[in-house]
Amino acid sequence: MRTPIIAGNWKMNKSVEESRELAEVIAQATAQAKGVEVVVGPTTLALAAVIDALAGTHVKVAAQNMHAATSGAYTGEVSASMLKEAGCHHVILGHSERRQLFGETDRGVNEKIKVALAHGLVPIVCVGESLEEREAQQTVDKVSFQVTAALSGIGEEQVSALVIAYEPIWAIGTGKTASPEQAQEVHAAIRALLTTLYGESAAQEVRIQYGGSVKPGNIAELIAQPDIDGALVGGASLRADGFAQIVSAAGS
Ligand code: PEP
Repeated sequence: MRTPIIAGNWKMNKSVEESRELAEVIAQATAQAKGVEVVVGPTTLALAAVIDALAGTHVKVAAQNMHAATSGAYTGEVSASMLKEAGCHHVILGHSERRQLFGETDRGVNEKIKVALAHGLVPIVCVGESLEEREAQQTVDKVSFQVTAALSGIGEEQVSALVIAYEPIWAIGTGKTASPEQAQEVHAAIRALLTTLYGESAAQEVRIQYGGSVKPGNIAELIAQPDIDGALVGGASLRADGFAQIVSAAGS
């Protein structure tokens, strides 16, 4: 039985003080939720304040990115050990914005995943197709390629520790959501691929989130799909009330 995971990606939004306040309200608003893991992802600058605000609560904290190296001449970057020391549990890796705007490659994402796992961080690994790829019927091929590349060299004993987020690029921040059937089709294809790579029992343990304009009004039908194990939420995670409704709908 996979515990659903709802993670908020705050992207480059909220000041440190606003982040602290949002984290506190989310912790209160989701305190009664059962059977669901709750994660928030503030900016790097706000991580310390949010981790401090959430100490002793059920809400965990994700970084939005990290560098694969341990330390050194990488201006502007932070490492896995630094995130771990700060108190992060998760790290979002390979988000489409990082792939598109910052040149992240499948190979680089794979390297970061291995380093994150080695430091006890849970990678939330983002994959997804563009609108052109969907229209050209290449969705499953594209996503399968990204998942295979992301998991290269990762063993069966490690794979259940990570989370995959299927995020069709055309649905991110656009208000267009994949239909539950469209999302389930891709999630099922990812799970079938995991079964081929790792066997049935390991594949059944991996949580696969959906991301792309998830909101209180569409989470119920998405989470009802057999292979959708939660959501990575952008815009709707910036308001505590809406995010709490999403958490509540995903819980038991
Ligand atoms: C995201 O950026 O991961 C995302 C899913 O954003 P939104 O919910 O705003 O589409």
